[in-house]
Amino acid sequence: MYGEFKNYLSAELKNIEEAGLYKNERIIVSPQSAEIELAGGDKVLNFCANNYLGLSNHPRVIEAAKKAMDERGYGMSSVRFICGTQDLHKELEQAISEYFRTEDTILYAACFDANGGVFEPLLTEQDAIISDALNHASIIDGVRLCKAKRYRYANANMVELEEALQKAQEQRFRIIVTDGVFSMDGNVAPMDQICQLAEKYDAMIMVDESHSAGVVGETGRGVSELFDIYGKVDIYTGTLGKAFGGALGGFTTGRKEIIDMLRQRSRPYLFSNSVPPMILGASLEVFKMLNESDEIHTKQQENVKYFRDKMIAAGFDIKPTQSAICAVMLYDAKLSQDFATLMAKEGIYVTGFYYPVVPKGEARIRVQLSAAHEREHLDKAINAFIKVGKELNVIK
Ligand SMILES: *Cc1c(COP(=O)(O)O)cnc(C)c1O
Repeated sequence: MYGEFKNYLSAELKNIEEAGLYKNERIIVSPQSAEIELAGGDKVLNFCANNYLGLSNHPRVIEAAKKAMDERGYGMSSVRFICGTQDLHKELEQAISEYFRTEDTILYAACFDANGGVFEPLLTEQDAIISDALNHASIIDGVRLCKAKRYRYANANMVELEEALQKAQEQRFRIIVTDGVFSMDGNVAPMDQICQLAEKYDAMIMVDESHSAGVVGETGRGVSELFDIYGKVDIYTGTLGKAFGGALGGFTTGRKEIIDMLRQRSRPYLFSNSVPPMILGASLEVFKMLNESDEIHTKQQENVKYFRDKMIAAGFDIKPTQSAICAVMLYDAKLSQDFATLMAKEGIYVTGFYYPVVPKGEARIRVQLSAAHEREHLDKAINAFIKVGKELNVIK
């Protein structure tokens, strides 16, 4: 049997490669940080990690992970409800609830699992899920696992959302689902308007805070802080793999009964291993640090502003952003790839995105800024952008 299947896969892989969509992975031989070393010895500045708060390699976080491992061992070898719950799990859930000002929290191995396991236990074919077209793949998969009626609206399009809400009056319960920050443009979901529509049409709200928590809002506490909508969002999902340390782990946080029901029925929670002590210890330290001071978040925000201002002054076309994601628009797919290649030669690691990851004719370089970046890193990246931009006739 495998002979024929092998030929089929080889042909498909060749198609992927010929379409220029084959994903090659660069090998890093240093910790994740502002400056990374690649296999072969090249050192580059990293502007494409989700290390928004620079905690992936922070000494306090590493120390806390080691301490937790010394005290509580390496793994749990169990799911939570059999014999896999430690006091540290409960403490971290409490810390996340306090950070988001919610009633309760449930941990998952990843936010992919949190989103995969949130809809099916809560909603049935009598209900409606109304989802932004640019929501993360894990939300899309989670929705597919649930029998609720699906509605979709174009990214952040409140006219389409309202139309969907009107149609969804036929269903018993309705929930609007959106990413907090969309990863390709760095735009924030218009939560103020979403809340108004939710109230008008009697819908619940779920926000995936993976790219927004630790970033947006006065102190980085996400969309509810940014829009002052505390109490109006019913469910938040999020990741420990981006701003909050960058290792692994996800969570759903929100109303007490919702979290209770997920503990009873959410399949990725019931049938997958519990988060290990080192991640619990490290994550507890992360939330402790963020409660102690806003310094890291402030630095990240200053870095975003500095980078954006200088790039706009240099003549680049930058999408408006309220997050730590900065889309440098080039529009042409090949240009975006050539640009990223030349940037790598200048020692700057950025990624070019083009169709189908972004709409046709909207190719771009995505830059992700971090509190780990120092002024000299930013200047080096900006100078490289200017040099390559002139070389490729993107700017004058
Ligand atoms: C990264 C991301 C996820 C997945 O998070 P993991 O914890 O890495 O599984 C889910 N949703 C959104 C919006 C993301 O950006």
